[in-house]
Amino acid sequence: MEQIIIAALSTLTPNQFSDLTQSLSSDFRLQHHRHCSLLLSPTRFSHTLYFLNSLTLHQKASLIARYFLTTLKKLTFVWDCTQHTPTTTTTVHGPMRLRDFDAVLLLMLLCEVSQHNSDALEISSTKWIDVLKHYTLNNMFTLWGIGASSATILSKYIDIATGCWRFLDATGCGANMEREVSTSAAAVISLPSVEVCGGGMSTSECVICMEEMNQGRDVCQLPCQHTFHWLCVLPWLKKRNTCPCCRFQLPTDDVFGEIERLWGILAKKGRGNLCDF
Ligand SMILES: [Zn+2]
Ligand SMILES: [Zn+2]
Repeated sequence: MEQIIIAALSTLTPNQFSDLTQSLSSDFRLQHHRHCSLLLSPTRFSHTLYFLNSLTLHQKASLIARYFLTTLKKLTFVWDCTQHTPTTTTTVHGPMRLRDFDAVLLLMLLCEVSQHNSDALEISSTKWIDVLKHYTLNNMFTLWGIGASSATILSKYIDIATGCWRFLDATGCGANMEREVSTSAAAVISLPSVEVCGGGMSTSECVICMEEMNQGRDVCQLPCQHTFHWLCVLPWLKKRNTCPCCRFQLPTDDVFGEIERLWGILAKKGRGNLCDF
């Protein structure tokens, strides 16, 4: 997996590359800031812990998924042809609220600490803050790459991205799951209408209803260039986010479905580049 991400990263132009590292490093600075202030304020810590405890397992999983999605988007937006139109900057996946963001940071820190030492949290949760402080102080460099070069920032990014992949696998929402999710409303709204013009050989049939698309009629065109009757494709996209002809994936509001789609784009780019060597 790391190899594929690195291969994908190496296709970026120098400008895209420096945009990415800058945006990542400002993200990491913000995380670092929230992380520290969470540990330095016992009130905020206990509020966040309380909030975290009130969530179901599924809610926790989707919180982490949203965090991963934001990070994954940083890289994939470069190749994602469905993201160019301003209407597809979805609100569902927009920036996380600070309370959620803090909860994710705390959750991930707790996981990391207990992976590191499984007994560390076997004490009253009122003392967790001290354990976490201690752990953070000892791992300052690896956690946040203080004074990091762009290489360390990228390796942290690669860690997060592979973590994201393992997480998907663990939650059973990985790429092998044939789950159907609907296309996001924003993506559907931004689909262009094109006029059917003659001359095409076999493209004049709508594969959903198997009927001809008459010349001069307005039909819907997906980003993969396949066209369909509007009345046929709208119900289709309500149930699925794939093109009926080529299975091209459109954006979805389902967090897990969207991670899967972006991973697909990333992996394709990376594998394509690996083959060039
Ligand atoms: Zn049709
Ligand atoms: Zn298609």
